[in-house]
Amino acid sequence: MFCKNCGQSVCDQAVICPHCGVAIQEQAEQKGNGMAIAGFVCSFFMPILGWVFGGVGLARASKRKGKGKGFSIAAIAIATVNFVVALSIL
Ligand SMILES: [Zn+2]
Repeated sequence: MFCKNCGQSVCDQAVICPHCGVAIQEQAEQKGNGMAIAGFVCSFFMPILGWVFGGVGLARASKRKGKGKGFSIAAIAIATVNFVVALSIL
């Protein structure tokens, strides 16, 4: 990927451009979506991680026109259901 500000190539993991120091917003937005999907996946196995990632994903989804919002809400819902099921088994 490339920095929007100075056009230099930037590491995929970078949050701030090492050449000009400007925050890479697109990367942050991708992470927001990733959080939602991570929460969705984790919610099946680890409800607590589903809540955490779902909550973060939901907060970030509101900053990027709702992208990832469905995944975040699904993550929280599935995590809650799995938590209740786990409690009933125990
Ligand atoms: Zn730059």
